[in-house]
Amino acid sequence: MVLPEIPEATWAVIGGSGIQASEFPEDAGSSAKVLDQDLIFTTPYGDSPPFKLFATAAGRRCLTVRLHGWRHGASRGQASRKVFWVLAQAGVKRIFSEAGAGSLNPLLDPRDIVIPDDFIDLTKDRGSETVVGGRLLIMRDPVCAVLGGALAKAADRHARGRVFGRGTCVVTEGPRFESRAEIRMMQPYGDIIGQSMCPEVWLARDIGACYASLYLVVNYAEGVVRNWEHSLLKEIFQEDAVNQSRILLEALDAVDEARSCSCSGLGKPTLLG
Ligand SMILES: [Zn+2]
Repeated sequence: MVLPEIPEATWAVIGGSGIQASEFPEDAGSSAKVLDQDLIFTTPYGDSPPFKLFATAAGRRCLTVRLHGWRHGASRGQASRKVFWVLAQAGVKRIFSEAGAGSLNPLLDPRDIVIPDDFIDLTKDRGSETVVGGRLLIMRDPVCAVLGGALAKAADRHARGRVFGRGTCVVTEGPRFESRAEIRMMQPYGDIIGQSMCPEVWLARDIGACYASLYLVVNYAEGVVRNWEHSLLKEIFQEDAVNQSRILLEALDAVDEARSCSCSGLGKPTLLG
């Protein structure tokens, strides 16, 4: 089998649980055009998951990949490194990711949207190695303000709940959910709890790309507000997937690529050799 060459693209969308129930970008009803699909690449971490290459309505070339449904035998850390290695070779400079989240902040309800501007990494088995390396990864502003702002604006137009353009995401290992006591401990740390922002947020800085993520609240964390309902969580994943896709596509085309941000200045050459 001849493996495909990694195509050039400056954008990437990493799909999580929020758009899992839809075909991205085809189901979003935009004029995005799929250019190629089922692209599996050889990486130093093993074969990649299948990527899709598409052009947005404005003609931006974007690679997209799912982080669910293919990781049999691969740890979350390995899976992320396969994906980010491919994105680095493709020349990707801007990355959106999306996922479902639990609410730590009792002011949040299911179907609210949070675009976090910070994170706390409580994962324990995802490794610390970079895919490019040689940089000191400064986490002062881990999320790109330009990308995050575009997501918040697009979410304002389409959200079925409220939209919050800042907040802290506590990232846990999963796949299990947290106990009530664990949530009680984590509640002062942040606003939402999820399993996907790490290592992605700092691997993006490692490859020199801007990053922002779109979180759809799908349940209350254990012990927050009231017991969450599995039927509602399922309903949100099914019903809101296309909406989340629309937000991503609209935000992608709305970003002014000439606008400067602080991201590139926060990956400095390492002084440690
Ligand atoms: Zn940026």
